[in-house]
Amino acid sequence: MYPLKMKPIFKDNLWGGTRLRDEYGKDTPYEITGESWEVASHKNGESTVDGGEHHGKTIAQLTCELKEKLLGDKVYKGDDAKFPLLIKFIDARDNLSVQVHPDDKFAFENENGELGKTEMWYIMDSADDAGIIYGFKEPITKDEFKKSIEDNTLLEYTHFAKCTKGDSFFIPAGTLHAIGKGILIAEIQQNSDTTYRVYDYDRRDANGNPRDLHVDKAVAVTTLAPAGEYKYQDDCTIAECEYFKVEKLDLKGSKEWTVDKSRFEVLIVCEGEAVVNGIKLTKGETVLLPAYIGNVTLSGDGVVLRTYVM
Ligand code: ZN
Repeated sequence: MYPLKMKPIFKDNLWGGTRLRDEYGKDTPYEITGESWEVASHKNGESTVDGGEHHGKTIAQLTCELKEKLLGDKVYKGDDAKFPLLIKFIDARDNLSVQVHPDDKFAFENENGELGKTEMWYIMDSADDAGIIYGFKEPITKDEFKKSIEDNTLLEYTHFAKCTKGDSFFIPAGTLHAIGKGILIAEIQQNSDTTYRVYDYDRRDANGNPRDLHVDKAVAVTTLAPAGEYKYQDDCTIAECEYFKVEKLDLKGSKEWTVDKSRFEVLIVCEGEAVVNGIKLTKGETVLLPAYIGNVTLSGDGVVLRTYVM
């Protein structure tokens, strides 16, 4: 068992930029890249192992081969079971649409058995006045919410939270949200690609058409009370929920631990450099630690996110 460095797949979203290639060394085939899916095992994108005896394999292929040794005694539920997490980097050169994600129950019933999507963001970089939309300023009714979408006044009701590099945000399913322009984030989320858009800044795609909005589904799933405290931070844990836990490691020197055989872990190098069990990682690289890997030695100088399912 060795740390599995992952090779991402890319998305050429129209609001994306060039930073993933220029600053993070990503080998994207696109001029403009919005997302790199670093740890992904979804029908819309699969990352693969980069290096070693498992080079080129997808997570699904490796799951068939290694089973609980890869995913963990608690996480492995059969070769065809859904991988629980999706981990991305997002480069927002422009504003992303204002959107919301359903929870597990709504997604299962309305989106062909998809998972819901609770997510968290770690702000890897942020322009001076950049921020995010995070829920509503005041409580709002379903009718008021729907009307504000129809008459283009939604942004008068949404809460704008300024961002600084190093901030983190927890976005449970049902929270209205949008990443603002000038922000680069690491996103850890449930393995789902279901998004209901409610406002897209009146943008047009390459063919001059607006992107679809999903107003009725959005109104059905959105939490109408203000999102409240949006930052979760103690010394080390920056997000914790029933789906995942995320720790921020300010790495100076070396740390050692033993991976619990019940679940795999993922390490994301957000800044600086690190070496994990002899595998060198630079800024923007992600590694999956198999559940049965045993002892882990992480050394270097930088910021590393450590995440695992609960
Ligand atoms: Zn989202």
